[in-house]
Amino acid sequence: MKGKIIILSAPSGTGKSTVINRLMKMPDLRLGFSISATSRKPRSGEVDGREYYFISDKEFLRRIDVGDFVEYEEVYAGTHYGTLRSEVERVCDNGLNLIMDIDVKGGLNVKELYGSRALSIFLEPPSLQTLERRLRGRGTDSEETILRRLGKAEYEISFAPSFDLRVVNDNLDDTVERIASAIRTFTTHDPD
Ligand code: 5GP
Repeated sequence: MKGKIIILSAPSGTGKSTVINRLMKMPDLRLGFSISATSRKPRSGEVDGREYYFISDKEFLRRIDVGDFVEYEEVYAGTHYGTLRSEVERVCDNGLNLIMDIDVKGGLNVKELYGSRALSIFLEPPSLQTLERRLRGRGTDSEETILRRLGKAEYEISFAPSFDLRVVNDNLDDTVERIASAIRTFTTHDPD
């Protein structure tokens, strides 16, 4: 049986990676993480082939040309991110459900491509004020970056109504349980 596709999109700082890590630890969901390709440099602690496939921008453009991507976006100016066709096959052909951490535009593109085989989930911060506090609390970004991310978040939240499911991340345990339950229903009940 072929696996299904779970799309998780959220503004930066909403807690998407934490939620995905928790979901990946639930064996009954049978999730496989979609390792994207990116032309950004690895952050400390990131490993090539685990968080991302880190490639140069030149290589990224070459792979766009040969049709290796299911979707790709220039998420930040000069920095590409994309889902490789080979990655979807690697996970789904093994019967696992592919979970994607992907930006809002990419998420909607994938939903359009896979239709009823994909569940698109939008994770929302409780408010822009909370998001701002979280971004500042991380202590990793400059003031300029924080303001840019906040502006982008407001824009991204405007796409939330186009997703199959919206979950406000005000309590991590509840958020993980709500999403896990939606994935269980989607992967076990929907015929394909
Ligand atoms: P980061 O650099 O913080 O890891 O990711 C930046 C943004 O790129 C996040 O919103 C993440 O969801 C998005 N992203 C990661 N992989 C992909 C991908 O394959 N395609 C698209 N469209 N966005 C991605």
